[in-house]
Amino acid sequence: MTANKHAFKAEVNKILDLMIHSLYSHKEIFLRELISNASDAIDKARYESLTNSALAEGGEAWKIQLVPDKAAGTLTIRDNGIGMTRDEAVEALGTIAHSGTKEFMKLLEAREVKDNPELIGQFGVGFYSAFMVADKVSVLTRKAGAAEDQAVLWESDADGTYSIDEATKPAKGTDVVLHLKEDDKNYLEEWELRKIVKQYSDFIEYPVVMNVTRDKPDPDDKDKTISETKEETFNSQKAIWLKDKSEITPEEYNEFYKHISHDFTDPAKVIHYRAEGTTEFSALLYLPKTRPFDIFYQDYKIGPALYVRRVQIMDHCEAMLPTYLRFVKGVVESSDLPLNVSREILQDNRTVAVIKKNLTKKVLDTLGEMKKEEPEAYNTFYAEFGRILKEGIHHDWERREAIADLLLFESTKTEGGKRTTLAEYVERMQPDQKEIYYMTGSDRASAEASPYLEVFKEKGLEVLIMTDDIDDIIISGLGSYKEKEFQSAIKGDLDLGDGKKDEKKKEFGDLLELMKEELKEQVSDVRISGRLKDSAVCLVAGEHDLDPKMVKMFQAMGQEMPKGQRILEVNPDHALIARMKELFAAEKENAQLKEYVGLLYDQALLLEGEAPRNPVSFAKVLSKLMADGVKLG
Ligand code: ADP
Repeated sequence: MTANKHAFKAEVNKILDLMIHSLYSHKEIFLRELISNASDAIDKARYESLTNSALAEGGEAWKIQLVPDKAAGTLTIRDNGIGMTRDEAVEALGTIAHSGTKEFMKLLEAREVKDNPELIGQFGVGFYSAFMVADKVSVLTRKAGAAEDQAVLWESDADGTYSIDEATKPAKGTDVVLHLKEDDKNYLEEWELRKIVKQYSDFIEYPVVMNVTRDKPDPDDKDKTISETKEETFNSQKAIWLKDKSEITPEEYNEFYKHISHDFTDPAKVIHYRAEGTTEFSALLYLPKTRPFDIFYQDYKIGPALYVRRVQIMDHCEAMLPTYLRFVKGVVESSDLPLNVSREILQDNRTVAVIKKNLTKKVLDTLGEMKKEEPEAYNTFYAEFGRILKEGIHHDWERREAIADLLLFESTKTEGGKRTTLAEYVERMQPDQKEIYYMTGSDRASAEASPYLEVFKEKGLEVLIMTDDIDDIIISGLGSYKEKEFQSAIKGDLDLGDGKKDEKKKEFGDLLELMKEELKEQVSDVRISGRLKDSAVCLVAGEHDLDPKMVKMFQAMGQEMPKGQRILEVNPDHALIARMKELFAAEKENAQLKEYVGLLYDQALLLEGEAPRNPVSFAKVLSKLMADGVKLG
């Protein structure tokens, strides 16, 4: 390797390999990606030149130029944007700057990406799509404001390395030169390029231009033609969000969405409106269909792009949307903000606060309409984003009721994959039912099979099944819905029984005391259960304790959690408990009885999905009892 040669990072090689060997359909998206990069580079230069006019370098009009060269077999995508320094080029074109690189590698190996190359853009690796059509790519770039001889030439033929050299470039910005593969020479044709720009990049703000040569009749000689070359603009450049709704086709909305989101599927919903009044702005927002893979990452970018008088100020303005609506993508343009507004200023700007309030309401209203008018689509949307939306209950106190109306849950009465609203639940409540019952768990099947639901099943009471990690916190925060309190099926003392609980308490009191003594290290209480029908025992949390799932979550995060807070509930109608009572009555210090108590506790752990305290001795005692049983039989 010569001195100026560098090796690509492993993940880059992987993606290049995939680009070259696996992706054959939709190759033309390489142009969308490169034009998109050029447009971003101009956005940056334009924005920075507002405060540093030297960066405009004489103020040539911003544009993106396509230069096909049939003789050389190259297509150049040229911009007069911000350009890159040497270090920036190494960083941007030799690595994948993404915190989700690991997930990304996994995804690359999956079939999905091979069939849908559009997925690639989602990971910010758009540049490498150039290698779908080129066997060599040269990038000549100079940072705006740097001297002409401070340019760099980056080159690679995707063999695992790239070279980087000093170069000279009179004009600022970047030339991406694609040395087209033999089979991809069609991308030198004017009609082909025009078609792709129209389809994928029509709304790009800057003109995408190309010199087009046409033959025209020679005015001096009717039988002859002369050729004339003119620069033509291929895209309409209309800021789609400023256009009238009636002028925009669904395809245009969708293409624009894909441009800003890097998503490959059409959005679930488009929200486009203009707010008039004291604060004026235009908003074009999208609700996606599928959850971006990085939405739970720290560096996930929140908020719509912000434009002020047609200038993009930032690509994600997090001050415009609450985090629980971070799945919303889009653009907001306001002329009520100054052009030189910074992130800090935005945080407590009054206009921004007004816009945020308005956008939030609009999104929640739209979700409400969707829920009402397209329940199927809403259910699908909710499966992807409900977990995020419900964070709003916790963070947006003022709107928690509006958000609660949007929540969906599976329940013991919904079909698999279907969900119910809280309002529907309340409507179905039994005449004497006072509370909304819910159960948290890791999945529906195990929740439904758990002993905690036995009494509810028997009485035909509906229980909401909550499987998201934050459900317990959300429901505790909400407290009630339509004046009905929430009651966990796995927490607190339930009394849905036959009213004989007090009687049973007396009857079994001594046995319970013994059990309590035996298990004093493990549980805080042993009591008669109001929730069991078929099982002998179960463990429950106190009314105000965290549920076991939360405890596990906190433990996984390294937090100390208090031990021995659980309560063991006993089913007095179970044959085993009745037998234990007999044994107890006959001989208070019966050793077998103590073994039973230990076994019952371990069994309760098993029912919760935990391992018994000591699996070896659990198996031993169990075998011994089984052997006794076999002997008797
Ligand atoms: P993304 O655009 O999603 O960040 P890309 O792989 O397309 O991912 O580009 C990687 C980076 O390379 C960009 O973030 C940018 O910093 C730089 N880059 C690419 N093209 C250009 C360009 N035409 N001008 C300036 N920088 C560019």
